Amino acid sequence: MSALGHHMIDKHGRRMRKLRISLLDACNLRCLYCMPEHPVFMPQKDWASVKDMARITRNLVELGIEEIRLTGGEPLMRRDFVEIVHELSTLPVKKLGLTTNALLLAPYLQVLQHTKLQHLNISLDSLNAENFLRITRRDAFSTVMDAILTAKALGFAVKVNTVMMKGVNDHELSAFVEWSATHRIPVRFLEVMNVGVMKSQFQERFLPASNMMAMLRTDLQLNRLNDKPDSTSRNFRVSNGAKIGFITSESNPFCAGCSRLRLTPKGQIRPCLFMEEGIDLKLLAPEDYPAALAAIIAMKPIGRIPHQPQPMYQIGG
Ligand code: SAM
Ligand code: SF4
Repeated sequence: MSALGHHMIDKHGRRMRKLRISLLDACNLRCLYCMPEHPVFMPQKDWASVKDMARITRNLVELGIEEIRLTGGEPLMRRDFVEIVHELSTLPVKKLGLTTNALLLAPYLQVLQHTKLQHLNISLDSLNAENFLRITRRDAFSTVMDAILTAKALGFAVKVNTVMMKGVNDHELSAFVEWSATHRIPVRFLEVMNVGVMKSQFQERFLPASNMMAMLRTDLQLNRLNDKPDSTSRNFRVSNGAKIGFITSESNPFCAGCSRLRLTPKGQIRPCLFMEEGIDLKLLAPEDYPAALAAIIAMKPIGRIPHQPQPMYQIGG
């Protein structure tokens, strides 16, 4: 921990060590649980510049941030994405990761291989091209699948994120577990969250992780792995060799162990995915960071806030 690391510990003893940076809100897919068909995105001029992002992040790393993940919207849609990664690669962090839909990933892989960004969480909600189209509203299954397999072959630490929804893709649950075993790629099943566009169909679509586990246990054994205390997923080794996890954001939120802060595309630091309150760090002097961080961390809820003011793609899922 840095000498200033105590600024990152809240009154419940949670130490903030992870930073999730949302680079933009725009996206090239329209996943039905995330975005409306015709979303309105913020103007590009509002995005924090590479320099701002780099400076802010450096200051946060000096205060104790150890892991950084880039997200959005779709982070690969920023034309200055590689520049951002090069800047962040100079920081002394344990882990630099990316959450992406992988539509634009393949051409970036060769460049990324020579950076610190080695952890790729790729969203894939179906193993079937037609169902992929239904869920994402874009015909891009093979592009995404090719990128996933190429990334794995090149040695990146790849994980797949699958939002499971009743009547949409729950019939593919076992196929995903099989796929995980075949390709040696961990798959994490996300409970769909009752936010944004999902609110109107949440009751119809929500599938708790306990049901997913019960479905799988009819044929397979699930052996619990030891997760880090601030892990957001509950992970298992399956008897067929697969590695799977469950992200139980609705049925069993991980707030009590949360170690995460969020940076919005505009350069505002926020305590939680479910809070709109934040502090703009773009113009803040380094000596004012500890007080700003202490104020943000004090706002962090200890349990799940029932109402989420902004859609996921705007704050960064
Ligand atoms: N576009 C990138 C992607 O899809 O990987 C990064 C941003 S996306 C908002 C980050 C993650 O949030 C994705 O894994 C996505 O599936 C998840 N997500 C978005 N809306 C969600 C919802 N209503 N419930 C659960 N997960 C959701
Ligand atoms: Fe785009 Fe990711 Fe949201 Fe899908 S989940 S619409 S890929 S931001």
